[in-house]
Formats: sequence, C-alpha cells, structure tokens
Amino acid sequence: MSGHSEPGVEHVDVLVVGAGISGIGAGCHLLQQRPEAQFLILEAMDDFGGTWQTHRYPGARSDSDLFTFGYRFKPWTGAPIATAEQILTYLAEVIEEHELESRLRYQHEIRAARWSSEQQRWTLEVIRRDTGESLVFTAGFLWMCQGYYRHAEGYTPTWDGMERFGGKIVHPQNWPEELDYADKRVVVIGSGATAATLIPAMAPVCEHITMLQRSPTFFFTGANVNELADTLRELDIPAEWIHEIVRRKILLDQGQIAAMALEFPDLVREGLLEGIREILGPDFDTDRHFNPRYRPWQQRIAFVPDGDLFQGIKAGSASVVTDEIESFTETGIRLQSGADLEADIIITATGFDLNVLGDIAFEIDGTPMDFADTVTYRGMMFTGVPNLVWVFGYFRASWTLRVDLIGDFVARLLAHMDARGAATVTPALRPEDHGMPLLPWVEPENFNPGYLTRGLHLLPQQGDHDPWRHTQDYWSDKTDLPAADLDDGALGYR
Ligand SMILES: Cc1cc2nc3c(=O)[nH]c(=O)nc-3n(C[C@H](O)[C@H](O)[C@H](O)COP(=O)(O)OP(=O)(O)OC[C@H]3O[C@@H](n4cnc5c(N)ncnc54)[C@H](O)[C@@H]3O)c2cc1C
Repeated sequence: MSGHSEPGVEHVDVLVVGAGISGIGAGCHLLQQRPEAQFLILEAMDDFGGTWQTHRYPGARSDSDLFTFGYRFKPWTGAPIATAEQILTYLAEVIEEHELESRLRYQHEIRAARWSSEQQRWTLEVIRRDTGESLVFTAGFLWMCQGYYRHAEGYTPTWDGMERFGGKIVHPQNWPEELDYADKRVVVIGSGATAATLIPAMAPVCEHITMLQRSPTFFFTGANVNELADTLRELDIPAEWIHEIVRRKILLDQGQIAAMALEFPDLVREGLLEGIREILGPDFDTDRHFNPRYRPWQQRIAFVPDGDLFQGIKAGSASVVTDEIESFTETGIRLQSGADLEADIIITATGFDLNVLGDIAFEIDGTPMDFADTVTYRGMMFTGVPNLVWVFGYFRASWTLRVDLIGDFVARLLAHMDARGAATVTPALRPEDHGMPLLPWVEPENFNPGYLTRGLHLLPQQGDHDPWRHTQDYWSDKTDLPAADLDDGALGYR
C-alpha cells in the first residue's frame, strides 16, 4: 500500500489518529506484526496519554485493574488500580521500549479526511495547534484511535440560576491547577467513577464535600491488591507469566460476574450492596443512596479501592445527597426537596461530550459522510467507508483488551489484502443482509450510561446478526475476531 507523495505531502501506509492508550497500542501492533509498514501517529494534544493526560483532577485513577487495562505485551507490576500518573509512566515505558517516539507527531489536529477511490488513499487536512500551520498527509489506511468524547470540554447540563452562583464551577475535565479547595465547602454533582475518585482525594482537605446525585450508581469495593499476583511474585515467577496468568484469572472472574449479573441480577445487586453496608453500617440508608434503578452491569461498575469513598462518608468528611437540583442560588444549590446545599465550589462531574471519530469532517469521493448512516462491521469498520478501522473499546471489561484484539485483526486484514493484491477494503451489506433490522450502536437495554444515550443518534448502527453486530462482549470477541472469515462477502476488496 505504499505510494509516492506529492511535494509537501507526507504519505504513510497507515495513519493512526490519537496517541491515547489505543493509538500507542496500535503503533506497537504495527511494529510487531507489520514491521515493514510506514506509519505515523498524529495527536492533537502536546503529549501522549489521551484520557490520562486530559483528566488531571485530584486522585484521577483507573477504575479497572491495570493487568487487563494494560496491554497484553507489557506486564503490569503495580497495584491493580493505578493513578493517571502511573498509567502515563507505563505508556512512556511502552513508547521507549518500542522506539515509538519518532512516529509520534504532537499538536497535529486532524480536521478533515477525504477518501479518493481513484487514488485509493485518504487525504488528511491537519492543523498544527502550536503554529497554526496547515499540513496535508495521505494514508493508505486510517486506524482511528481518537476515543469517544471531546477532550477540550466535558458535558455540563444547564441549570436555572447557574450565573448567579457566587463561587466557582469546575468541570473535572478542565481542572484549574491552582484551584484551592482547602477548608472549602464543595459539592460534586454526579455519582460516576469521576465523583467516586474526586471525593476521597479531596475530602481530607475540604471543610466538607458532598456528592449530589440524582440517582445511585453501583460500586465494587475491595482492597487494591491482587493476591494471586502477590503470591506469584513471592514465588519469583517472571513478570510476563504473572501478567498473563493474572489477566486470565481476572477475565475468568469478570466473565462469571457479568454472566451472573444477567442471570441473577438480584443476587449480584445484593452482593454489591453488602460490600457498602459493611463499611457504612446498618444506620446508613444504603438502599436510598447506593441501590441503583438499573440492572448491575447496565452501566460500568467502578471499583472503589479500599472503599475510600465510603470511608470518607463514614468519617463524616464526605456525605451523599440523593435529590434533584431545582436551581443554583448565590450560595449553592436549592434542591427539589426544598433543602439548600451551601457551597464555595461546585464540581460538575456530569460526564463527557460524546463525539464521533474525532470531529473530523469525512468525505468519500467528494460526498460528505455521516457515520450515523452506516452499519458497523463488528463494531470497528463501517459500510461504504474504505480502509478505516475504529477502536471503540469495552466498557464492561477493560477498554484495552479490544485494542489488542483489533491490533491482531488489522494486521491480519492488511496481510490478507496483500495476499489478494488489493489496496482497498470496504464493508458492504450482502444480498442476504438487506432488510436486516438495524439497531443502535449500543443497545440501551444492554448498556445505557448518559453520554451514550445522549449521543446514540450520532453513532453508526448495528445489525442483528454477524458480522454486523457490535456486541461489547470481550468473551465472545476473543474467539470470534481471530476466526472472522475475511472472505465472507461482507468485505469487498479492490
Ligand atoms: C476519567 C476516566 C477514567 C477511565 N477509566 C477507565 C478504566 O479504568 N478502564 C477502562 O477500561 N476505561 C476507562 N475509561 C475509558 C477510557 O477513555 C478508555 O479506557 C481509554 O483510555 C480510551 O483510550 P483511547 O486511546 O481510545 O482514547 P482517548 O484516551 O480518548 O485518546 C484519544 C486521543 O485522540 C486524540 N484525538 C482526538 N481527535 C483527534 C483529532 N481529530 N486529531 C488528532 N488527535 C485527536 C485526543 O487528543 C486523545 O489524545 C476512563 C475514562 C475516563 C474519562
């Protein structure tokens, strides 16, 4: 797929968009599995890490274990839950060990991507954020690793009276480095993983911190240790083995829990609540504040290491209020119950602003395209869109598990194209697929966090049978993706 470049235009075989955990993983897979491929990773920000670069609020950490959130090829040697800083250090080591630095171009924001069937390549319009310069790249294949939300700004709903609040309003995605919250009254709106991370990190310093939630969220609690890993370390087992063994064990356990959550939701619900009751005791109204309306696993279940969120509530430095906001006041928030929450700082941990394919304007042979009109091939390619793969990871399992699976898939697909002498691969519905019922990108009945349901109309659709399904199921993908028949007629080659 290599080709000549026009003057001033840089051409690569594969262009990776974004240098988060997916883009860096894509680069490693290319080096390991397609060493002859020329590739670059373009990143809009001034450094790598994506999510872990953007989210710099106090205590920012993973909510899944790093044995599976880490890559399969780079052992994780720390405690299971890691801080943003530790994840960035891990990624820095990966970049160094794979000599990826020379492939990374920072401050390169891709604004437009145009496919030409005649040239069989993508042309990308890029703006350098530091100099304002316009650049053009061409690529045989696009590996989209731009994540799923806008990095510049988070999602903040509007509430009545926001403008009259006299204190500070902060979104965790734009955390002011100099924010002084010592001895301040803080209200955090939201009950997701971000709120659960911020609150224990800020509680020891604030006068008081309150989690204000409209409705409860499920949390797992437990010690931030992996006993199996610790035992294997004591036995002096090599780090690569420990990584693989612990990954398998965690995935086995998680698979069983996910299956149980579907089959015996009440039992799983009780188990999760019991962990919280143990910390907060019988007098705390756990049912009101921590028993969600939805089924366990219908939204991501965040792990709260050492129950730190609940320890803060127990100690009295933090509290939780389950109510709706009527309006902001000069000094805080008036609730629908009539109560007032006084605050110096209000943190809107209200989630992300979902975007599709990095807000890049896509065109195919001169026609602007809308991904919402496409049907996905296995949750990673799209009907009518040539030579493009998107890494949309797992929510119920670690995102990165899919980075590795897609890495193998892309390498196999590119090799298959070489073997067929093809320069273009495009998914298209086959005659037997016409009339197939079309479903949303992620079925709300299956998984329904706010940022996804708000943005579903923007996302591609899926079908009701393979290879047009986007299952979000690591446990079926790990056998189905490597076995996918690349000649089943759903992928057209030219
Ligand atoms: C606070 C937080 C905690 C999370 N914790 C977990 C967890 O514990 N476990 C888990 O599995 N998942 C977690 N997630 C989900 C998480 O986003 C993913 O797991 C993962 O980090 C996403 O990686 P990514 O590389 O695909 O995307 P991102 O991290 O979003 O990175 C995408 C990169 O692409 C760049 N980019 C986007 N558009 C363009 C463009 N047009 N041109 C150039 N560059 C562009 C962005 O600047 C960014 O650097 C968490 C998410 C958040 C926000």
